[in-house]
Amino acid sequence: MENKSCILVSACLLGENCKYNGGNNYNQQVVDFVSDKEVIAVCPEVAGGLPVPRKPVELSGGHVLDAEGKVYDKPFQDGIARTLACLEGKRVDLAVLQSRSPSCGVHQIYDGSFSGKKKAGSGLFAQKLKDLGYQVLDAEDMNQMKGKR
Ligand code: SF4
Repeated sequence: MENKSCILVSACLLGENCKYNGGNNYNQQVVDFVSDKEVIAVCPEVAGGLPVPRKPVELSGGHVLDAEGKVYDKPFQDGIARTLACLEGKRVDLAVLQSRSPSCGVHQIYDGSFSGKKKAGSGLFAQKLKDLGYQVLDAEDMNQMKGKR
């Protein structure tokens, strides 16, 4: 029997309403890409016990902060640990993650000033996956994969 590829996906890209504002980041290209593959949908922020909706946060000075300066390091780290624990023993061929999120962003994140400015960098979950050797793709990279399926 053919072994399907297994893709880890930010749940919000598949339409799950787990985004900070209660919405999602539904991405048709991602949905099409994974349609013939096994999917593991994850939201590390919800896994860390954060509610939906929740305050928007950005990474600043090595911490996860909301605009009032409240620190969210623990739920973020808990969410990463719990999500990784769920992946134990599973083969993951690729992770496709939501752009610019403080958890899932792969290439870019907001700069911590809550002004909409971005900087190069990864969200904490995406960085952890990279450090562990997972192949990680930003949802916006899907555009470049068009026609390569
Ligand atoms: S943590 Fe990741 S999966 Fe969850 S809402 Fe944010 S971008 Fe989507």
